[in-house]
Amino acid sequence: MDVLNSRRTRACISLTAYRRNLLYFSEQGAPSLIAPVIKADGYGHGAIPLAKVAADLGCPYLCVGFLEEALQLRYAGVTLPILVFNYFAPETTPLFIQENLTATVYSGYQLEAIAPYIAGGKLRAHLKVDTGMSRLGVKPEEVERLIRRVWEIGNIELEGLYSHFATADDPDSDFARRQYEQFAALRRLYRSSIRYFHISNSAGAQYLSVDPFDFIRLGISSYGLDARNQKRPSELSPVLSWETILSHVKTIREGASISYGRTFIADRPMTIGTVAVGYADGYNRLLSNRGSVLVKGRRCPILGRVCMDQFMIDLSGIPAPEPGEKVTLLGFDGAEEISCEEIAALLSTINYEVTCLISKRVPRVYTEV
Ligand SMILES: *Cc1c(COP(=O)(O)O)cnc(C)c1O
Repeated sequence: MDVLNSRRTRACISLTAYRRNLLYFSEQGAPSLIAPVIKADGYGHGAIPLAKVAADLGCPYLCVGFLEEALQLRYAGVTLPILVFNYFAPETTPLFIQENLTATVYSGYQLEAIAPYIAGGKLRAHLKVDTGMSRLGVKPEEVERLIRRVWEIGNIELEGLYSHFATADDPDSDFARRQYEQFAALRRLYRSSIRYFHISNSAGAQYLSVDPFDFIRLGISSYGLDARNQKRPSELSPVLSWETILSHVKTIREGASISYGRTFIADRPMTIGTVAVGYADGYNRLLSNRGSVLVKGRRCPILGRVCMDQFMIDLSGIPAPEPGEKVTLLGFDGAEEISCEEIAALLSTINYEVTCLISKRVPRVYTEV
């Protein structure tokens, strides 16, 4: 143990698997390059170590959601170009210039608001065009006016034009194709004056056969998770696993109740275990009486409500369980796996949210296996 980890709980992040996924998409997407998306602290995996892997592999760009995430990378010594996707308060514009970060320009209103803060510097920016997400971005018909205005303002280096798919996870999606066609038309108009064009996310890379142009903004698939929230395709390597230990093992009698609210009553004498993780670790309370974990390679159902720091499991059928035994919350133990998709299904959400919500109380441990 190189850092104090008294309760033996850790999210293990395989940098080898992460590298393998980036390389797989680099080969598959060539000549387009991979711009890893490591917003939300690398979807919960920890952005800084991933950024270093991406830099070593020669990725051209990193992408994050907010300015603070980009600054965290800069302060950790990451020198790659970094695109910030989202809103920033106009008065924070000088930080982009000072730290050589790339801003997203997504409306005329925003452009006028930030312009006075560029002052003597030069702001590097990518223009976002809304081809169908109705989130951030100027309408295709407004692009020309916006670009003119950028050139008029003068101290903005308009380096990129990008858009974002709404339905790239559906290979039959006419909508994605229409988005793509609109973007491709803009590219034909501006390719001599703008350097980079990018539209594809993970779903586009996995499921749409279109030219992603210069970069693929690769998020979820780089973590070895399927962009359609389906079973992991064999070409992806899972990056994150999450384990802890049994803090306590005991037998309970028939009729005993487990945890708050007594939502589980034993109908027979049982061996149960207490697990040293709870909802404050991002182990969702909605998994109460529904989820399972792995002990000695076997599935053990959760009994009763998940508490803030711990929950209880059924150890029936586990040979000689003892305190200190490894408990796998996510990932493999032998041939059995608890996948993010399994947890996501129980929570009516998608795999993305499962790793993003693992809280900062869980130490991340980086491995090369
Ligand atoms: C999050 C995000 C991505 C990455 O999406 P994935 O589905 O995880 O690949 C790409 N582009 C933008 C603009 C995003 O916000």
